[in-house]
Amino acid sequence: MRIWPSIAAAVLLAATLSACQPAAPQIAEIPYAPDSGNLFVRCGSLIDGLSDEVLQDRMVVIRDGRVAAIVDGSAEVRPGMTLFDLSDKTCLPGLINMHVHLLERGADAVDYGVYFRNDAEVFHARVLEAAAQALLTGFTTVRNVGDYFPAPIVFGRNEIAAGRALGPRIQTGGPFLTIPGGGGAVPAVDYDAADTPAAAQLGIAQGADEFRQKALHAVAEGADFLKVIASGAVFAFGTEPGAPEMTQAEIEAVVAVAHEAGIKVTAHVHSAQSGRDAILAGVDSLEHASLLTDDVIELAAERGVAFSMDIYNGSYTDTVGRELGYPEEILRRNTETTEAQRVVFEKAYARGVPIVYGTDAAVHPHDMSGWQFATMVERGMQPMDAIKSATSLAAVHMGWSDDVGAIEIGRFGDLVAVDGDPLADMLLMRDIKVVVKGGLVFRNQD
Ligand SMILES: [Zn+2]
Repeated sequence: MRIWPSIAAAVLLAATLSACQPAAPQIAEIPYAPDSGNLFVRCGSLIDGLSDEVLQDRMVVIRDGRVAAIVDGSAEVRPGMTLFDLSDKTCLPGLINMHVHLLERGADAVDYGVYFRNDAEVFHARVLEAAAQALLTGFTTVRNVGDYFPAPIVFGRNEIAAGRALGPRIQTGGPFLTIPGGGGAVPAVDYDAADTPAAAQLGIAQGADEFRQKALHAVAEGADFLKVIASGAVFAFGTEPGAPEMTQAEIEAVVAVAHEAGIKVTAHVHSAQSGRDAILAGVDSLEHASLLTDDVIELAAERGVAFSMDIYNGSYTDTVGRELGYPEEILRRNTETTEAQRVVFEKAYARGVPIVYGTDAAVHPHDMSGWQFATMVERGMQPMDAIKSATSLAAVHMGWSDDVGAIEIGRFGDLVAVDGDPLADMLLMRDIKVVVKGGLVFRNQD
């Protein structure tokens, strides 16, 4: 009998609370309606990705997934809206990683067999696991710059866009466009190259005509941009990291297809020669960009060709890779390219080459993509420029600056938050506490 009055009192109390206090945010669960969030986010400090200033106490109003207003932090929360109180945190735009491989793992260097077994279920699970890790560590947008198998990435991109899986907004580059046995071919260590599945050979070509055909096919299969392996990879066998693999004419053939389709081309480059060839062929950006000479840096600056440089990875590979028993050849090649790449980074930044944030996620685990910020600042980059490289500047080079890369009216309500001031301590970027994408909360950790 005594239970009734207490339940009535609790119901009455709840009704009173909901009438005068906004609801607390819920973590979005799968399946979810993408970009459907309506949220008032109160930020103690706000780095918007565009301004050099840090704003204090702002309310970011997100309606139907997009930023509708940015007002004073004390603004009244409208009835029925949810308040997300981050007044003890610094908000930043959702981060962008311009260089990920969602299907691959650095530890594959110990055994590439997973690619020869070609199991769609395993591939889909890998892609979705990596995508979830990317999102929950703050990367609300990523560029998948090619993979041995392109279809699982298109699958993941579409599942996430439909709200059936957790992950960032994805642009994918289709298969690696590479010469036979080149840096983008599945390494056949301990396996017979003849057993390489056909689905892993979609981007292998030789001569401008063949590259044109493969590029057209990649576009038809849903690639959002194209990726060429201009010169050999560090994580490959039997090729030298700096040795040019594709000719300028072959790269030009790919660029022509991409630009006809209104999409961009990025080139994997590890040497001055292939960097020059790629820039002269008209690519939009270079990845790695190690071993470049001053004249090639100059050429990139003149033409506004962006670099995405994975300057943290050398440290990761040298420590963890050694523990995992990576082959000696890969460890040696890593040592040879790491410091050289960091020196090019310093020179390119000083010369004004646009540097976009790209970590080659897969070489390191997908939840460590925030670790590179500190390395970039250690090597001379201004902290605010490091933030912009992973937000507004990256968005420009993806062609997505209407939608992502800044906390600005009209763009998606994508934001992250950290404890403290990341401009004073870039290590905070390794520990993102809050992730909001399209106004929906995916991480909220105190
Ligand atoms: Zn890569």
